[in-house]
Amino acid sequence: MKIAVNGIPESPKEINFSERMDELNRIFGEGKARDFRFPPSLDGSFVCYRSGKDIFFQGSFEGMVEGNCSRCLKSYSFSIAKNFDFVLTHEPLPAKSKGLNLEDMGLSFYSGEEINLSPLIQEQVLLALPTRPLCDERCLGICGGCGANLSSETCLCDSSPGDSRMAFFRNLRLDR
Ligand SMILES: [Zn+2]
Ligand SMILES: [Zn+2]
Repeated sequence: MKIAVNGIPESPKEINFSERMDELNRIFGEGKARDFRFPPSLDGSFVCYRSGKDIFFQGSFEGMVEGNCSRCLKSYSFSIAKNFDFVLTHEPLPAKSKGLNLEDMGLSFYSGEEINLSPLIQEQVLLALPTRPLCDERCLGICGGCGANLSSETCLCDSSPGDSRMAFFRNLRLDR
């Protein structure tokens, strides 16, 4: 998503966007992190306006993402939605920024006639993802012994008296 700097007025203007997710799908598809798959694009809108050399953006997006549960490994879909809010400042002249790393100070810049919002929107999409994909908070995962999906299947492992986990349950019953 690119926007022309001279098209941004001083009074707020609303813009709808549809951000392509190819780049994020490529990164997640290639890397070790295969936990999320994005739709071809995510839809959203923002309001932007200019104040001096600063450009303000406030918006939101939503969409469905597919994840692989980190406990049971099944794929599942979930919705993400996020509000975002950022300010871009015109890149200062090199002389002014001497000795200061302004990006480290948390400032974002634009330069030239056009602003590429894609990296900023993609960053917001990453922030909207859960730290760990779970099909359900209560997902019980897979039994390490028999491979049963413990949320929907019965564990087929032998529950012999020597099994310490079963001993725990027997003790529970005795306490009652
Ligand atoms: Zn799961
Ligand atoms: Zn089992």
